[in-house]
This record gives sequence, C-alpha cells and structure tokens, in this order.
Amino acid sequence: MSCLTGCGSYKHAKMPEADEKGTVGCILFLRFCEVIVVGILAFAAKDNYQLVKDHDQLSRPPYNKNVILSQELLYAGSMAAFGWTFVGFGLILTWKGWAIFWYGLVDLTLSLVMAVGAAMQASYLPATLTTCKKADTWQVHGDYPSFFALAASYRSREDANDRCHSFVLVWILGVVVIVFQMLIAYIGIFSDIREYSILNPYRPFAWFVVIVFGGPYWLACATVRRSRFLYRLLKKVARQLRGCKPIEFEKPPKYVPNYSGIKISNPKLENIFNIEHLLLPIASNLHYDDLINLSLTSKSVREAVFPAGDYEHRVRKLKAYSCNNNTKSRCEYCNKQVCAECTQCARMPGLAGLRHLQLCRPSCTKCYFKSIRPGLRRTAIDKRQCRCWVSDASMQDHWICAECYAKSKFGFELQAARERRYKKQLREYAQGIGLPDGQKLECRTCKTEMQGGSVRWWVCSRCFGECTSHMHPAHARVMAPGDLEKGEEGDAEAPKTSWLKFFQWN
Ligand SMILES: [Zn+2]
Ligand SMILES: [Zn+2]
Ligand SMILES: [Zn+2]
Ligand SMILES: [Zn+2]
Ligand SMILES: [Zn+2]
Repeated sequence: MSCLTGCGSYKHAKMPEADEKGTVGCILFLRFCEVIVVGILAFAAKDNYQLVKDHDQLSRPPYNKNVILSQELLYAGSMAAFGWTFVGFGLILTWKGWAIFWYGLVDLTLSLVMAVGAAMQASYLPATLTTCKKADTWQVHGDYPSFFALAASYRSREDANDRCHSFVLVWILGVVVIVFQMLIAYIGIFSDIREYSILNPYRPFAWFVVIVFGGPYWLACATVRRSRFLYRLLKKVARQLRGCKPIEFEKPPKYVPNYSGIKISNPKLENIFNIEHLLLPIASNLHYDDLINLSLTSKSVREAVFPAGDYEHRVRKLKAYSCNNNTKSRCEYCNKQVCAECTQCARMPGLAGLRHLQLCRPSCTKCYFKSIRPGLRRTAIDKRQCRCWVSDASMQDHWICAECYAKSKFGFELQAARERRYKKQLREYAQGIGLPDGQKLECRTCKTEMQGGSVRWWVCSRCFGECTSHMHPAHARVMAPGDLEKGEEGDAEAPKTSWLKFFQWN
C-alpha cells in the first residue's frame, strides 16, 4: 500500500498525521447517533415496500414506473444498514489499520444504494410533510386518483394525507441516514494515519479548499493579467488614435549682412579681428558667450568675428578655441557652448523631460506582457507606475549660460520651452533618432531591436516602474533611417548635431 503515498520520487502533499483512535471514536459516535433512526427507517420502509409490492397498480401508468424499485432499494439499504450498525459496533472495536478502510467501503455501498432509492422517490413524492395537505390532488393525471389516494384505499382507516406522511417521512429519514452513512464511509475510507497517504483524513479538506478557492483564484489570476494588459493597451491605442500634436520650432532667420550700411568706427581693431590667426588666440582667452557679445557691438565687428562668407568654418574654430577645454559643454536650455567658468547656477525645479530621456527605456510588448505577474498581487514593473516625477518638484541646481540665467527669473517659461524640446526629443528617441552612432533602439529586457508601427512601453531604469507619462509617445509609426542621426548644419546658436548627442545615455 506504499503507492498510496506517491509514485516513485513523487509524493503527495504532506498532511498532519492522523490518530486512529480519533477515527474509531468518530465512527462509534456516529453509529450511536444513527442507530434509532436507522431502526425506524428500516421498519417504516419495509411497510411502504410491502404496500407497493402487493398492489402493482401503484407502479403502473399513470403512476411512476419506478415506485417498486425505489421503495425496494431504500428498504433493502436501510434494513442492511440497521443490521450492519450492530455488526459495525463490534467490528470497529476489533478491526485495526486497513480493515477500517473496508469498513468504510461497506458503509459507502449501503449509502449509495439508499441514495439511488431516495433519488428515484424524489420524482413522485413531495419534499416536505406540509405539502401532504394536498395529497389528494398531488400529481393527478386525468380521472385517476392521486398516488397517495390510491395507496390509502388499500388500507383501512387511512386517507391520502396519512399515506403521504408515511412515504415522505421515510424519505426524509432516508436522507438523514444517508448523511450519517456517508460521514461514516468518509471517516472509514480516509483513515490512513500516514502524512503522505492519499487517504489521510485531512486530504479531502485540502482538496475542498483547492477546488472551492483555488479554481476561482487561478481563473482570476489568468484573467486579471490579460485584462490588465488589455486595459493598458487600449489606453495606448486610444492615445495613438488621438494622434500627437506636431511640435514645431521657429528657426531663427539667417543673418545676411548689409555691407553698404556697415560703418567702421575703429579700423585698427577691425583689422586685428579680420586676421584669423590673431583673432583665434584672442578667442582662446574668451568664452564663446563673450565672442557672441563682442559680435553684437557693431555690424562691422560681427562681420569681422563671424564673417558671412566663411561663417560655418569660423564658428567651428571659435568654438574650438574659446572656453575651458576641460569643462566645455552645452547650455542645458539653449545648447550654446559653455564651460564651468561661464555658467551660472540657477535654482529651478527639475526637468521631467531630462529624467525621461536619461532613465526611461523602451520595452517590447512581449517583455511588457511577461512583466505583468499572473497573480492578483502586483509586483515588479507591474507593481506601480514610476513615481520618480516626485523628485522633479524639488529645487535643483541648473548650470546655464548667462543669457538663460537672465531668463531664469521667469523660470517657468524657460523650462516650459525646454520641456517642449524634450518632448520632441522623446518622440524622436521612440523612433531611434539621435542615438549614438551604431546604436539601435532596443528592448531593455530582451535586447531585440524595436520595430516601427508598434506600441511603445516605457520602463524607468531607476525604480523599474512603468512610466506612463504622456511626454513619451504611445506609439512609433516608423523607425528612423540611420542617416537621420547626423546633425544639421546651421548658425552659431543652432546645434551642429542632434540634441540627443549631448546626454548621457547609460
Ligand atoms: Zn566658457
Ligand atoms: Zn543658455
Ligand atoms: Zn518616462
Ligand atoms: Zn522611476
Ligand atoms: Zn523584449
């Protein structure tokens, strides 16, 4: 019987160890409780069975054809159960171990016989004694008397109501005895005291809990995951259908010098500036911002420092010579070349766009779906949305050029303009524009290349929560061809390369 504990290396789940004395005690108690009921049932069922057996009109149409069989089954089962009750008292005190299992099987057989009989009787008997008041009219067919009226006619001093009572009472007692027998059968069959046995008395409880609670839980888990995903996908699709408002920026008009209007006020100074190898050493001691300010002093100085004929080359050279080489960077707000010495610190709230660019990475739909846990509890990416935006509200140091610093008194406007640029950058980033050379936009988890025409899921690499900010596009229609990464050529204030090049990517 070792197979009851499991097959090969497989073992059933561990249950608490049972006590055989408890099993015997329970069976004795139940037997004691049912003995009188079984006795009454057995003799009352015998009486009913005799009546229907002696008068076979009761089981002919229009009456139920199973009347005799159903009464016989209940009678036989209850009479056997009555006898078995007395035998069982003796046997349960002497049988030990596996014998109790067979003891339970006997009770199960008896209860099944009675259950079949009672189930058949249910089709022609009322369920309660109170319904017997209508015994004369119960299931009447045409001119035939009711089943109970006909049965009563075979007995003197009995009417249909009394007969109905006799049949229904036996049926009710039968149900009570079946319950007792089933309980005894259960205790007898599941009487293996071993912890891993499939017949451990506690195992049916475990099954019951698994079926009643586990089934709905499993179903809920499976559907919750899909419905969560579907809900979020629908939100993305809705945003995609609404479309993105295009973000346009005004390009500064190209400077065209009017040579006829240029007056040279200081020819010596102009001559020095006109000679490039004299201008560049001067520029090396200046900041780029100073050169721009210098060029603003007069049209002739502007033409000397930023000559229209050689504009692009001159800008490149001046940028290379000016500012401190070790700390050269770009102003966060206007992208002008700055260095540590020509920037000023403005205290302003953080820029959400910068955070998204630095921290939020795309996830493919497959990886995103996997990140939604099947359970009801939300964990990992699915646990919560990225809440790093809380830190945006705190005041931070922004090292910016003097011009932007002057505007920082109206910080909101300055920042709103920059956020618009970040929004544009995030849209470009979703399409793979502006990534460092040779780098492709890929899923943060499986590293597969992100395709155009798909939904974009964003995950924060600081808190690992999903970023649902509307600064990110919900969808990328197409991916950028490689050469879009190359920066546009422009004037001194316009970036030489895509803005994205100037951010730390990882
Ligand atoms: Zn500088
Ligand atoms: Zn600036
Ligand atoms: Zn984000
Ligand atoms: Zn976050
Ligand atoms: Zn992936």
